[in-house]
Amino acid sequence: MTEAFFDSMLQLVTRTSTDLPPDVRAAMTQAMGKETPGTSAAQAMAIIAENIDQAADGEGAICQDTGMPTFEVKVPVGVNQIVLREQIRAAVAEATRRGKLRPNSVDSITGKNSGNNLGPGTPIIHFDQWERDDIEVRLILKGGGCENSNAQYALPLELAHLGRAGRDLEGVRKCILHAVWQAQGKGCAPGAIGVCIGGDRTAGYLHAKEQLFRTLDDVNPDPRLAELEAQVMATVNSLGVGPMGFGGAVSLIGCKIGALNRLPASFFVSVAYDCWAFRRLGVVVDARTGGIREWLYVDPKRPAPAMIAAGQAGFSQTGSEKVLRPPLDEATIRSLRVGDIVLISGRMYTGRDAVHAHLMKNDPPVDLRGGVIYHCGPVVLKDGETWRVMAAGPTTSIREEPYQAHVISTFGVRAVIGKGGMGAKTLAALKETGAVYLNAIGGAAQFYARAIKQVTGVSLLEFGTPEAMWHLEVEDFPAIVTMDAHGNSLHRDVEEASGRQLELLRTV
Ligand code: SF4
Repeated sequence: MTEAFFDSMLQLVTRTSTDLPPDVRAAMTQAMGKETPGTSAAQAMAIIAENIDQAADGEGAICQDTGMPTFEVKVPVGVNQIVLREQIRAAVAEATRRGKLRPNSVDSITGKNSGNNLGPGTPIIHFDQWERDDIEVRLILKGGGCENSNAQYALPLELAHLGRAGRDLEGVRKCILHAVWQAQGKGCAPGAIGVCIGGDRTAGYLHAKEQLFRTLDDVNPDPRLAELEAQVMATVNSLGVGPMGFGGAVSLIGCKIGALNRLPASFFVSVAYDCWAFRRLGVVVDARTGGIREWLYVDPKRPAPAMIAAGQAGFSQTGSEKVLRPPLDEATIRSLRVGDIVLISGRMYTGRDAVHAHLMKNDPPVDLRGGVIYHCGPVVLKDGETWRVMAAGPTTSIREEPYQAHVISTFGVRAVIGKGGMGAKTLAALKETGAVYLNAIGGAAQFYARAIKQVTGVSLLEFGTPEAMWHLEVEDFPAIVTMDAHGNSLHRDVEEASGRQLELLRTV
């Protein structure tokens, strides 16, 4: 039983990381059809769709941030939970070794990555007993960008653009709209949210995350909550946050609400924000043999259709793209404007939190003049003496806001690639020095991995593979100019415009 259960868990982790469930695919297909052809939002959706197909076809991670693995396990009375926990942990470590999960477990005090996704608190495994004979295991992989977009509100309170949110369902509705608005593109919209009304702070967040185990097309058994879910979905997309926060028709693909009792003194609304890369699957396991009896969320009689139907194109070049070949000069960068699509060919360097913190006190290990920094923590595997990039989408750039202006102006960086945009300090540095911020499509890890032709080196590997500085040779790497060297920022514009839309939703 032990060996077979390990194998079942390895299958579950691998498939969850690489194959988006049919309900999410259906919601994304519908969302894709709503975006206006030719817009940045439509282009983002085309890249996302292509990426979903590439991940499933090649069994590669849908997003390089394979997130926090959270397992919900139901066991018959008498089954040894200690053994199951050991096997789940072993399967997580093996999936990490195979490049299906990125090493994501970091010691919170030393910053050291355990390298195998095991450590205190990782993975998260919750057990419950039930009176059936089988074991049920559900898994969700939720990444850092969307986890950082979670929100918890203590009612009553005043919300930007929405005014007072009181201790009633109307107050809850306002909190939900506010949570979607504040996430903008940072959580890789279009997203889906799980909500908990009530509970204490801890139980509220947990129950909100548990709502994400519901399918997007189900109907809440509580008619009051079903009505609220429908009300949110009927209005939320008028916000215009859109895919990746580019503006557009679809900001949210699902809203699932639960409720817990609360203390009379507290009224929390907890929101668990998940991104479009909404990876969630489950299996029913034979408790005697450990083998999989049934997959959950997946209908074996109706295999999920490809996101890009046969004969249709995914992301396609129009000929109006601007080609960038680093090292880049100031005149080339100043010729770029918000909305331009660029294709980068040549050298770029990855750098995220640890690299940026390092560069505040140290010289870079490579010459960054005219260079391109990519906010990315890739999944890489060693292949003999060389490295192979398995998944490489952008990470949330706003985390580098405290460092970016210094790094750009001190070391002569001309382009920064990431997702979700950056703040006023970086925008000012772009204008002053002649640099540009490029938005790649969050989560499109397989799509971008295919644009990386070679890993030519690595620096600062002591920070762990996601945080090291990888030297990448890329070809026709597409990205959209969202902050230019003239003080323009699409992110600022969309945030302000969607804030005005939010005001229209103050009352229903
Ligand atoms: S799609 Fe975006 S938010 Fe989701 S895990 Fe990937 S990088 Fe993070």
